[in-house]
Amino acid sequence: MKNRIGIVGGGQLGRMLAFDAKKMGFIVTVLDPTPQSPAGQVVDKQIVADFKDEEAIKKLAAVSDFLTFEIELANSKILDELAADGVQVNPSAKTLTIIKDKLKQKEFLAKAGIPIAKFREVKTKEDILKAGEIFGYPLLLKARFDAYDGRGNALIKKEADIDLGLEKLRGRELYVEQFVAFTKELAVMVARSTKGEIVTYPVVETIHKNNICHTVFAPARVEKRIQTKAKNLARKVMQHLKGAGVFGIEMFLTKNGKVFVNEIAPRVHNSGHYTIEACTTSQFEQHIRAIAGLPLGKTDMTVPAAVMVNILGDRKSPAAVSGLDKALKIPNTFIHVYGKAETKVERKMGHITAIDKTIEKAYKKAVKARKLIEI
Ligand code: AMP
Repeated sequence: MKNRIGIVGGGQLGRMLAFDAKKMGFIVTVLDPTPQSPAGQVVDKQIVADFKDEEAIKKLAAVSDFLTFEIELANSKILDELAADGVQVNPSAKTLTIIKDKLKQKEFLAKAGIPIAKFREVKTKEDILKAGEIFGYPLLLKARFDAYDGRGNALIKKEADIDLGLEKLRGRELYVEQFVAFTKELAVMVARSTKGEIVTYPVVETIHKNNICHTVFAPARVEKRIQTKAKNLARKVMQHLKGAGVFGIEMFLTKNGKVFVNEIAPRVHNSGHYTIEACTTSQFEQHIRAIAGLPLGKTDMTVPAAVMVNILGDRKSPAAVSGLDKALKIPNTFIHVYGKAETKVERKMGHITAIDKTIEKAYKKAVKARKLIEI
């Protein structure tokens, strides 16, 4: 039986993928530059190497029947070559190539007829001024590559902010987007099997601060027709993308009920962590099933409501977990610690999911638990 999984990236997503892969009896190897990475601590073997290291990725492929990634920084060129040589890479490296360049991703979405914010490539201050004239302000100046958790965005509220934005993102390739005055941010996790079956998870509501996801409410508190619209959009995005696996589709809801796609993650996603405790099949198990050619699991919620809050670092120091004894007294509240050696400001160190009869009750418990935990 083919039972070896290789994951490029050994962060918390790799760690949670590994837990479920191990549950189903797979042998798991990860590739990550940090020794004893979050996933490295719980898998059979870690290859310590850069995400872009061709030789190391080939070594990973040599010990894997199914190759996947948990980070967009993965080297899509070599993954594509390996796929051409017959290695089972999922999602497809072609999909990764489109998604890892945020400008290319927007062009792809526009071509597929998916509603998105207006956007435009920019290289100079003049280009941004031009975009300001066409789209109006505010604008979001965004880095095309290696940009997540807020590290690649600058808000341009008015012409005078352009210099500061360019300074913040100096040396990076850029594009601008029109600012969407959203009333809510939504996300839909969606999975496709190697046989082409597509399933969607419930629509959730996400709260970002400083461009970083802080809280997820499941299910989203929006009308049924909005939920249907969001799920249909997620499905439509998938129909245009290649490869098996779980994807996260982030969206904006506007006050007149329009839904725009903001971004696609070609991997398991922070907005799907709640599925571990709140859905029949977690996003992590689903991804393993999907890439290994197994039947997909049901995606429905098994509880009325779930709230996830991230545990973000608040200082720079070696990590030290405390407060589990108190936080775990709160019923149906689950604490996840990622095992990172160092705490950094706004670094994702863990997360908490609380389940309950209502979102309000779950939220109260998650916030209470968050106050009790230090990492
Ligand atoms: P991104 O990494 O590009 O998904 O951006 C992170 C967060 O920035 C999003 O979750 C939004 O809160 C905000 N954001 C990004 N693009 C836009 C936009 N065009 N309009 C309004 N807010 C945005």
